[in-house]
Amino acid sequence: MTRVLEASGIVRRFGGLTAVGGVDIHVDAGEMVGLIGPNGSGKTTLFDCLSRVQTIDEGSIMLNGTDISKMQPHQVAHIGLSRTFQVLRVYRELTVLENMELSVQWGDISLLSSFRKPTKETTERADRLIDFLLLSRLRDQQASSLSGGQRRLLELGMALMSDPSIVLLDEAMSGVNPSLVEQIKDRIRILNQEQGVSFLLVEHDIRFVKDLCDRVVVLNYGEKLAEGAPDEIMENEAVIEAYFGDDGTEGAGDAGN
Ligand code: ADP
Ligand code: MG
Repeated sequence: MTRVLEASGIVRRFGGLTAVGGVDIHVDAGEMVGLIGPNGSGKTTLFDCLSRVQTIDEGSIMLNGTDISKMQPHQVAHIGLSRTFQVLRVYRELTVLENMELSVQWGDISLLSSFRKPTKETTERADRLIDFLLLSRLRDQQASSLSGGQRRLLELGMALMSDPSIVLLDEAMSGVNPSLVEQIKDRIRILNQEQGVSFLLVEHDIRFVKDLCDRVVVLNYGEKLAEGAPDEIMENEAVIEAYFGDDGTEGAGDAGN
């Protein structure tokens, strides 16, 4: 198995709070890994560390054999790691196509400050992905006119523009209606099975994670609580406890976060 992503001993503190407290996580080529855990358990912060949006206080991150621990987000994107955000980052006034074209310059401030006209190759790639994601009808519409689910698809498309070997999806299904969830799931499966793209995904809906993932990592209070096949994880007492507490009611809602 080729290891695409390997992070060891990741620590990220905010003042006195340790949001991520020494986590090891890896993803192999072609693997689909779920990252779950109660609200506030450090999932987004870990994603921020892995994609280099946040600096790390301790630990190391290897991407396709390269040490990316100190790289900038756009450098990491260039060598194969893309991500989406829990809070959407599409430009509402730009069209679907323009958002896709712009995303190849994502994070690269020197380029953004002098926005370049996209190359023919960039536009062609954007068009292919727009077709693949079944967004062709909306190609020239402003992103503000899209539904929540269509915007999530656009964000997935933007993450795919740099031809990543691994994509990190942070709650890509939140605010998406159930029919579109199936469509997005289907696209993710094709990307994984036919193009070998690996995924690490944070999703609140455990069934979604179970349907897609080979392996699940559970965080709790910034530490790894459990790791294993989805079925094992769902029967793991410590995981049930972390999610549902003693009274059987769910205490891990992500609503409003
Ligand atoms: P999750 O994505 O699992 O809900 P987060 O990674 O967003 O969790 O948050 C983990 C912890 O870190 C929470 O206690 C949160 O309040 C805290 N946190 C996240 N980002 C910041 C920040 N920029 N400054 C201070 N605390 C933060
Ligand atoms: Mg989060």
